[in-house]
Amino acid sequence: MKMHIAGEWVDRPEKIEVRNPFDGSVLDTVPRGTTNDVSAAVAGAVEGAKIMRRMPGYERYRILLKAAQLITERRDKLARIVSEEEGKILAESTIEVARASETMELSAEEAKRLGGEVLPLDGASNGAGKFGFTLRVPCGIVAAITPFNFPFNLPCHKLGPAIAAGNAVVFKPATDTPLSGLALVEILLEAGVPSLALSCITGPGGALGEALVSDARVRKVSFTGSRDVGEEITRKAGLKRVTMELGSNSPLIVMDDADLNKAADAIVATGYANAGQVCISAQRVLAMPHVYRELVELLKPKVAALKTGNQLEPSTKMGPMIRTADAERVEKWIGEAVGSGARLVTGGSRRGALHEPTLVADVDPSMRISCDELFGPAVAITAANDIEQAIAMANDTRYGLSAAIFTENLDRALRFARDVDAGNLHINWGPQWRADLMPYGGLKESGFGKEGPKYVIHEMTEMKTVVVHGLK
Ligand code: NDP
Repeated sequence: MKMHIAGEWVDRPEKIEVRNPFDGSVLDTVPRGTTNDVSAAVAGAVEGAKIMRRMPGYERYRILLKAAQLITERRDKLARIVSEEEGKILAESTIEVARASETMELSAEEAKRLGGEVLPLDGASNGAGKFGFTLRVPCGIVAAITPFNFPFNLPCHKLGPAIAAGNAVVFKPATDTPLSGLALVEILLEAGVPSLALSCITGPGGALGEALVSDARVRKVSFTGSRDVGEEITRKAGLKRVTMELGSNSPLIVMDDADLNKAADAIVATGYANAGQVCISAQRVLAMPHVYRELVELLKPKVAALKTGNQLEPSTKMGPMIRTADAERVEKWIGEAVGSGARLVTGGSRRGALHEPTLVADVDPSMRISCDELFGPAVAITAANDIEQAIAMANDTRYGLSAAIFTENLDRALRFARDVDAGNLHINWGPQWRADLMPYGGLKESGFGKEGPKYVIHEMTEMKTVVVHGLK
């Protein structure tokens, strides 16, 4: 595919191959963009932003609604693109595409709701004879940088609200999964987004990303990806508005009054989806001693039953990881844990980028499969003596994106919600759950700013305060 820069689909002599992570076959190529392309895309967006600023909210609503409809119409084709380049099974990519349509629809609705407020200036000691109100205006140019793991819906969470707010966007998808992002850009242009208002540049994040986020013409940076890249971007962005959606090693507490079957089902559903490559995957299970052994026994056959293989075959329950190097890293961290006294309950082996779904028990919190973000198909189980210790262990991390508890006790559930430092808290389900309309984002080093169209749209705008003086 070509990339879209400053109103045109363009190619470059240097190409990047996009491969299916299951068998390494080449799916397509994309141009290797350069920093000159970034500069041209931003220059185009300067003009695009002028067009967008004048576009009425109703028109922005109509365009985004049309995009939502086109996504729904093309669901199967889009799901296949996502599965082929990302490696998730077709059932999961079909859900991702359906969610993307909903994200666009939610964004469309927000285009009609942006407004200011009347300020009660007469309540101020110096406010007599004044009338004040606020205006919300677009930021101008939004830079959107996205990761590989939800290559269709995560861009929708940035492009949808940015366009709804009347901005131009320069979008940089992940190099492993650019085809989904380019397909989304095609849809948005077909739906009526002005061509200069939406560029999509493909190529290496290091060079292009730095050029994009440090460009003074960009006013807002919206990034989803790893913690370390997020920190680097925050340093380079300078005086810009920045939203950071970063990683996590989400905990799931199982109390002794929990429904263990439900807890086991939730651990499997939220720990291994997309081969564990979800920022809110259940990674650390903290179980009370009384239920620990039974939980491990319940989990063992459920995890072992997750058949790995070709993500496009309907019988496959878990596809490959994005890269062989990532599967090797997961294998290594599991090996380190087992070498230091943890117990391998099931799984543990690897074939290329396919890593078996793995359960490791008796994990010490200092082991890397517990204290770092694993981002792979393994769950680590550790005993916690009581709710106090479980909450302390849940919080003993630099991350804070999502957390979960299984308990029938309201008091413990609410203590968990109050005291665990995470942006999303789930009671009687795993940490991996999201509705696209809800506020979503991390605490601590999992980032700052909330996504969800209703919430992020405010971060895609600037607020002005207007005061009329000298009223009689
Ligand atoms: P990366 O941080 O490696 O990459 C994310 C994006 O940033 C890619 O487009 C990448 O480009 C680009 N990039 C890389 N280096 C730079 C740089 N120096 N400046 C600007 N951009 C750069 O993440 P992954 O794609 O590996 O995704 C996995 C991570 O994303 C995990 O940590 C996961 O937790 C997190 N994530 C967080 C979510 C959340 O909502 N909080 C949701 C989903 C994932 P290129 O691909 O070319 O390197």
